[in-house]
Amino acid sequence: MIIDLRSDTVTKPSPEMLEYIIQAEVGDDVYKEDPTVNELERRVADLFGMDEGLFFPTGSMANQAAIKLHTNPAEQLICHKYAHVYNYEGGGVSFNSGVSCKLLEGDRGMITANAVEEAINPPDFYHSPLTTLVCLENTTNKGGGACYDFAEIEKIKTVCELHGLKLHLDGARLMNALVAKNEDPGRYGKIFDTISVCFSKGMGTPLGTVLLGTKDAMKNAMRVRKVLGGGMRQVGYMAAAALYALDHNIERLADDHQRALEIALVLKSSNYVKKVEPTETNIIIFYLNDGLDPQKFVGDLEARNIRISDMGQGKLRIVTHLDYTQEMHETLMQVLDEYSP
Ligand SMILES: *Cc1c(COP(=O)(O)O)cnc(C)c1O
Repeated sequence: MIIDLRSDTVTKPSPEMLEYIIQAEVGDDVYKEDPTVNELERRVADLFGMDEGLFFPTGSMANQAAIKLHTNPAEQLICHKYAHVYNYEGGGVSFNSGVSCKLLEGDRGMITANAVEEAINPPDFYHSPLTTLVCLENTTNKGGGACYDFAEIEKIKTVCELHGLKLHLDGARLMNALVAKNEDPGRYGKIFDTISVCFSKGMGTPLGTVLLGTKDAMKNAMRVRKVLGGGMRQVGYMAAAALYALDHNIERLADDHQRALEIALVLKSSNYVKKVEPTETNIIIFYLNDGLDPQKFVGDLEARNIRISDMGQGKLRIVTHLDYTQEMHETLMQVLDEYSP
């Protein structure tokens, strides 16, 4: 038994999801003739109270398309220094959109309205890039699954409106935030210009992200998606997996969160861990005591068939997900409890 906790992307479709995929009605989605894709896009848009959705193969492509929609070359976006759009999308912001990022500090991957306001370049000062977009992440990935306080998001929106900036949400794990905070998705739909909602993380599908926005924005997004090579044909099979996930895999995220909390507690009570970041959802970030080698720790766990991520700079990451069973959880808890470096 391999216990793979490197990421919530390692899940495989369940037999029930596969059955649902097989019965999907499909068509050529580049002609907008795939009824299952159309149904998914409609359903996710309705869930968030937004005009329209567009199905993308990956979260990175959806984020990159959103950035392209909201910016012109030489402009600047504002994001946290841990942001996925900056760190883990291959430099796409400059490759695809020709924009730069103003990176902000902030608690566990989150930024504040005050910090955003201070980071905006004065629009008349033509020496500096024009600031046109703010990108948030909820939950934060490198920040350890932290959830924004919605009041702060509202304040950031006010700053954006005051300065004519667009606001994009990288919602790769937005469902985790909604479940953890018991929030109404409609509130998000009212605030953001675009939201990417990922189905290949906690939702457990093989691939797919829906980008949400206004009718006009999504019409442009279709062109940008084609340019990026993301026009797909009978992709209703994958949309079916996402529809299945909407019905079956949202509420159960609470189980992932509970297990993550239990893992965090066992790490905290151990004598080899220096610090565990607050664990709000399914990601646990922790640091070993000074002098202990994170790579050795990862190797020791690997030898016991347990896989976790070394994020560099002493940062270790465990991510719970729907293929992490109670049996695996009990094994892991025992290994962590008995571990001695
Ligand atoms: C995983 C992830 C994405 C999208 O990644 P893909 O692998 O391209 O689907 C985007 N943002 C965050 C915060 C993520 O964790």
